[in-house]
Amino acid sequence: MSVPVPLVFNAPRRGMPPTHLADLDEEGRREAVKELGLPAFRADQLARQYYARLEADAEKMTDLPAAVREKVGSALFPTLLTPVKHVACDDGTTRKTLWKANDGTLLESVLMRYPDRATLCISSQAGCGMACPFCATGQAGLTRNLSTAEIVDQVRAAAAAMRDGEVAGGEGRLSNVVFMGMGEPLANYKRVVAAVRRITSPAPEGLGLSQRSVTVSTVGLAPAIRKLADEGLSVTLAVSLHTPDDELRDTLVPVNNRWTVAEVLDAAKYYADQTGRRVSIEYALIRDINDQGWRADLLGKKLHKALGSRVHVNLIPLNPTPGSKWDASPKDVEREFVRRVIAQGVSCTVRDTRGQEIAAACGQLAAEN
Ligand code: SF4
Repeated sequence: MSVPVPLVFNAPRRGMPPTHLADLDEEGRREAVKELGLPAFRADQLARQYYARLEADAEKMTDLPAAVREKVGSALFPTLLTPVKHVACDDGTTRKTLWKANDGTLLESVLMRYPDRATLCISSQAGCGMACPFCATGQAGLTRNLSTAEIVDQVRAAAAAMRDGEVAGGEGRLSNVVFMGMGEPLANYKRVVAAVRRITSPAPEGLGLSQRSVTVSTVGLAPAIRKLADEGLSVTLAVSLHTPDDELRDTLVPVNNRWTVAEVLDAAKYYADQTGRRVSIEYALIRDINDQGWRADLLGKKLHKALGSRVHVNLIPLNPTPGSKWDASPKDVEREFVRRVIAQGVSCTVRDTRGQEIAAACGQLAAEN
């Protein structure tokens, strides 16, 4: 479906940034180029500049006639995100960026380089309306949805940073994207799915990452999980469960009042059935809140019953928010939790937590600003 492009005056859409090339599909790009009075082949040329050369500044697109660069720039390449600051840690292999959108909205992404891959954690919303009490982003509420292009441009910028050797370890390639930054991706469904398509389509239609290297997380919007299962994508689904019982989950993840643990696991099973993909279960381990042995047993039992071997539990040692009463569980409690989940026949590992000292839990950097 093509998106109408306000070309002459690329005014911000109500509450949203101005239209950008990355908001448009192939047909939309063709129409946009036509409206600008340019020959049709420019549509592919602009896409190649953006998706293959990772160039977002029309003035630097030297295969465009100099006379049209300004017009193309203001119509299709408005500056969407400006870096406010980069903060590095883990010997420079983790880099968190605080971005300012053109309406002043703040958002974050985190690039993490490992020996065998480079993963970017991106935001899908500015702020978040899900109100999880242990999360920095949840405290501030939802500012607004990000546009498709604002989501895609976080990835383009990171791919360029890797290519140009800006992250310790020299030149490299961005290989993975996880939607685990600010926001609930499935609450911004249409734009997130469009962004996934742009991120995973081969150039010049997109940035060419493999669908299997993209993870979409959710707190459990069950109908949206089912819808995603029917999109024909093979991205990994990560469900932030955080506890296997409704009583505690109603408080920890307030959206549980709408869709219970059973409904969420049912939708996750549908996702695994439709896509053949193993589902990730995210579990932030919080001291004395959800780290009891009986909860590990119950988690393992429920997951094994719903998903068999098509599930993996990622335990996340809580990255405490400054001034918060929530804290990470002690290591021996964490080890025992893993042991008990595995004893139920479910694979379980503790996630390597990057960026602790740069406030890399979602929303912490934006909260400080
Ligand atoms: S944990 Fe995720 S879903 Fe919950 S408030 Fe934070 S960003 Fe939103």
